[in-house]
Amino acid sequence: MRKPFVAGNWKLNKSPDEGVALVKELAGLLSGHAGVEVAVAPPFVTIPAVAPVARKAGIGVAGQNCYWEESGAFTGEVSPGMLKAAGCTHVIIGHSERRQYFGETNETVNRRLKAALAAGLAPIVCCGETLAEREGGLKEKVVEAHVRGGLAGLSPEDMKLVTIAYEPVWAIGTGVNATPGQAQEMHAFIRKLLSQLFGKGTANVVRIQYGGSVKPDNAAELLGQPDVDGALVGGASLKADSFAAIVKAAPKEA
Ligand code: PEP
Repeated sequence: MRKPFVAGNWKLNKSPDEGVALVKELAGLLSGHAGVEVAVAPPFVTIPAVAPVARKAGIGVAGQNCYWEESGAFTGEVSPGMLKAAGCTHVIIGHSERRQYFGETNETVNRRLKAALAAGLAPIVCCGETLAEREGGLKEKVVEAHVRGGLAGLSPEDMKLVTIAYEPVWAIGTGVNATPGQAQEMHAFIRKLLSQLFGKGTANVVRIQYGGSVKPDNAAELLGQPDVDGALVGGASLKADSFAAIVKAAPKEA
């Protein structure tokens, strides 16, 4: 069984003080709860304050993005090495909000991913279709392009560090989650694609998170699907009690 992995994407929320308070509360609520990997993704400026508190509690810390160059004249960017030095263990790459608002493409996702791996960060790579694409019968085509393009040139060895997050855009922040059946269908599709790209052994160990309006009351059913290995959580990760309830709803590693 793959160890479930639940990550909280704080997006543009939580100052350093607020982030520390949230992680301390979370650590208390999750104390003694083993068998599920947990991480939080604070804004860049909040990472250095949160990282030592999270590390002590066994909670990973993810950047919400990273650039592909380590240094240089790239105003406003943050490199994978800097994230690592600030205490990050993971990095989210290719979130749909980055694709929608900041011009992210499969090619730039791929460049960021390779740089993150080279720095020793564990990437969470996002994919997912819009409502128009789903209604147009294009969901598999779009997700396949995200996965093939995003993961181009990676080896099965690289894939050991990678988590995929299937996040249908129509479910993110809308309160309308994919049904467990819809999620399972797409997760199985992604796993089959991973099998074609990297072999069955690798496809069987790569974790695929579901993201899109995961809440305490829908988490158990979504995370109970055979190919759903955890969740990437936005809104519900901003409160310790709802995020801890989602973590506790994940089936524990055998
Ligand atoms: C996300 O930001 O990745 C996300 C899934 O958000 P929400 O849980 O708020 O839909």
